[in-house]
Amino acid sequence: MQEYVTMVIAMNVLEENKNHSLTSEPCYNHSSMSTLSVKCKIVPDAITEEKLSRTAENFTEACNYALKVAKEKNIWNKFSLQRAIYKELREKFGLSANLAIQVIIRVAKRKGRRAKSFKSRSVTYDQRILSVNLDKEIVSLSTVNGRVKVPMHISDYQRRMLHEAKSIHGGHLVKKGNDWYIHLTCEYDTPSVIKPKGVLGVDLGIINIATDSDGETFSGKHLLSVRERYRRLRSRLQKKGTKSAKRLLKKISGRERRFANDVNHVISKRIVEKAQRTGRAIVLEDLKGIRNRVRLRKPQRTTMHSWAFRDLIQKIEYKAQRTGVPVVFVEPKNTSRTCPSCGHIEKANRPTQALFKCVACGYSGPADYIAAMNIAVRGWAAFIQPNAGAQSATCKPQTVIQFETDEILPGPPAFL
Ligand SMILES: [Zn+2]
Repeated sequence: MQEYVTMVIAMNVLEENKNHSLTSEPCYNHSSMSTLSVKCKIVPDAITEEKLSRTAENFTEACNYALKVAKEKNIWNKFSLQRAIYKELREKFGLSANLAIQVIIRVAKRKGRRAKSFKSRSVTYDQRILSVNLDKEIVSLSTVNGRVKVPMHISDYQRRMLHEAKSIHGGHLVKKGNDWYIHLTCEYDTPSVIKPKGVLGVDLGIINIATDSDGETFSGKHLLSVRERYRRLRSRLQKKGTKSAKRLLKKISGRERRFANDVNHVISKRIVEKAQRTGRAIVLEDLKGIRNRVRLRKPQRTTMHSWAFRDLIQKIEYKAQRTGVPVVFVEPKNTSRTCPSCGHIEKANRPTQALFKCVACGYSGPADYIAAMNIAVRGWAAFIQPNAGAQSATCKPQTVIQFETDEILPGPPAFL
């Protein structure tokens, strides 16, 4: 299962409107559109870059100016704010009508927070001041010095995402380091959510990145060895401390993340395709469980791991959404300690990282697989009694599952 394709996907898809509630009911979301932000690198020439820089600077300054006025006069309503400062924004900062409006919208959103000043030099564009030529792969943006056309550098994956989009609704221009990106807001038709015939439970971990309730495992060994290689390289370079070492350090930073990103793409794709093919919903532990799972001593590793988990969950969610596969989140408590055969819950049920062995009935099997089954059971219970919500769906597994206790890999219950 170690299909670690090193395709370069320099794209980042963020699903909007994400909320992981503990009691995530398997509600069928019938909204027919979904929005994704597709990040594309753009490569302006020197003159264009100058224009983009000036636009980003002016836009940020205008935001801070508008914020100051909003605070002083306590105006947070979009329309009142527009009446008060629109003209000034255009004259003072040379913004086009639409960019001035975007400033006002951004500032009005800060209401209620102890509004801090704007630091990031990003510019918000709506579809009237941003357009994309998909054939030529050029994005056209309005700046403080007129309209500019900038070529995009995109991968096949991004190309497909852009072509599949029903429409592109503006985006954000962002500068990161020396590179420029445009985060395009793409809208997609969402297929109606399927009514699942069963569920696929997925347990996330470190040794095994993901294990599903069919017993399929996605090993993390390769990923861990790659991380270890990066860690050694980093510490060598840090010790060296020379200028060239620092340059190299900077260069390799981000590579590790990109690699984990690629691995997650492969795994999430596989899981979602399987669920779709078999007409099942995907059940995952609530994020809180993931945080508890990541109990490592080194803080930087913890950060990397929890980032990778969140990223994998996000990828599963957006891929599922685009194929109509429902995703349910369940209460993570005791998923790795509960016996699927007799329901006994005890820490000692898991004598080692890899093994589950029930101290009450002797039932045993690979620990991650058992956890994935428990997750599936909870998810299915949430489907059967949706009003109870997933949190109270910690039904006693023995009421559903009948396993032979001497089997190593017991067959899953009928609904899985
Ligand atoms: Zn047991």
